[in-house]
Amino acid sequence: MPTPRRLKGIAASAGYGAGPLWRPPVAGAAIYTPRHSRQEEIAALGAAIDAAIAETAGLVSTTNGEAAEILEFQLAMLEDDNFRSASTARIEDGLAADKAWAATLDEEIAGYLASQDEYFRARGTDLADIRDRVLAALTGSSRPQIPDGAIYIADDIAPSAFLAHDWAGGGLALLHGSVTGHVTILARQRGIPVVVGIGDSEIGDGGFALIDAVRGEVILDPGETERSQHEAARHAHARRIEAASVFSPKPAVTASGERVAVMVNIADPAETQGIDAGHVDGVGLMRTEFLFNNGLPGEDEQLAAYRRVLEWAGGKPVTIRTIDAGGDKPVPGLTEDETNPFLGMRGIRLSLAKPEIFAVQVRALLRAAIHGNLKVMLPMVSVPGEIDEARAIFAEQAASLDKAGIAHSVPPVGIMVEVPSVAITPGRFSAADFFSIGSNDLVQYVLAASRDNWKLAALARADDPAVLELIGRVARHGVEAGREVSLCGDAASNPAMTFHLLDAGLRTFSLAASAIGEVKAEIARWRPGVAR
Ligand code: PEP
Ligand code: MG
Repeated sequence: MPTPRRLKGIAASAGYGAGPLWRPPVAGAAIYTPRHSRQEEIAALGAAIDAAIAETAGLVSTTNGEAAEILEFQLAMLEDDNFRSASTARIEDGLAADKAWAATLDEEIAGYLASQDEYFRARGTDLADIRDRVLAALTGSSRPQIPDGAIYIADDIAPSAFLAHDWAGGGLALLHGSVTGHVTILARQRGIPVVVGIGDSEIGDGGFALIDAVRGEVILDPGETERSQHEAARHAHARRIEAASVFSPKPAVTASGERVAVMVNIADPAETQGIDAGHVDGVGLMRTEFLFNNGLPGEDEQLAAYRRVLEWAGGKPVTIRTIDAGGDKPVPGLTEDETNPFLGMRGIRLSLAKPEIFAVQVRALLRAAIHGNLKVMLPMVSVPGEIDEARAIFAEQAASLDKAGIAHSVPPVGIMVEVPSVAITPGRFSAADFFSIGSNDLVQYVLAASRDNWKLAALARADDPAVLELIGRVARHGVEAGREVSLCGDAASNPAMTFHLLDAGLRTFSLAASAIGEVKAEIARWRPGVAR
């Protein structure tokens, strides 16, 4: 009997799986048959690209939300004439169709994958995916079939390969991967277990494996003990999820009878389709970066997106955050190349530096405000003057809308508390109508541990005493100054953090839709002053 082996990684999408360990075969094994003339090579490539377009369009029609967006990006790339013509030029220079296509795409992919930015690296994976789909069509090979119930182990996986498989019973163990990568976001939405960041371990193919994507572990060749412990943990997890679903529809109340507001975070208006507005107290954070993924959006496009969420919320508060580009979220045409982007031109700093772009968003927000209960939040504020400057732009644009006779209203303007300067001296920020703690950035700045480096996950913890001290300080300031303080970073979605946050004095959380039941269940168990 082989000895069980535990591989440690990061739990990126919670759940448990068990099944045969399966590694995809090395790509490029299929052989391309060269055609007789350059014209035939060009025709073969054209037919393969068209086949890939048809396959991708077919996948788009069966998905929605984030998954559809990824596939639509791939579709746009496949339809992009630049790739087709650059490959045709290479065929005319004497390369066969497969080599010409691969060389064209590899050149583009190399630039993306070398980037320090996670966003661009994810786009590189998307492009590698379409490269392989066209190559498969050219060689007549089909995508390798992932066996049912398998534990997939590889460096990473392409979104389309992920979407094409039914993962019931199995899961994904990624040597690299990332907690914020596309596949992990899709897996979290679907409840499929994923562990990332296992590292370059020596792992063979075959054998049996267990995946524990709550602790962030993969167990190879488990013995009887490991299997029975895993089964017990899987059952306990399923019971917790089921118990939590009882709490989802109810208002959140602590064991001592205090009402806690539980709001939802969204990153795209399309997400509201899958959320029951009756289960939440509003939207505590709507990120607006998604609007800027395909170039700078116009005022009407932004207005339509904001209005859709306000109308869905039906009078409940909706906090829309102005663009937080920069850091790990580069936006072409807006952000700058920097050596240290997390400490650079991001969030409100960038908006104030590009007032012509910010003004478009401000006008859309002012116009949206008449369609519901809107609050606007400024990201990455670090000194009080930034609020004054932003307010001046709101006043200027409101005056211009007045003059043009366009209906609008000026919403409350609050700030994210994610830079330590705000958390240490919140009293200086009296120009803010409300505060929302961004624990993701606050943690990385307090502990000097970059949020996108999985090797620092053990250091970058929201329950670090220094972070909790700052959260408590902001919560106390809110009570004294009569300002609402919420927390909208990932710590709000983590049931293991709920008691800490309530102990620190917070009574408003904004979290991922998937965590609502579990966090409400934790709130229901809490009472003040009980030893933990
Ligand atoms: C945060 O920093 O906690 C936050 C909510 O903002 P983002 O994750 O978008 O930076
Ligand atoms: Mg942040």
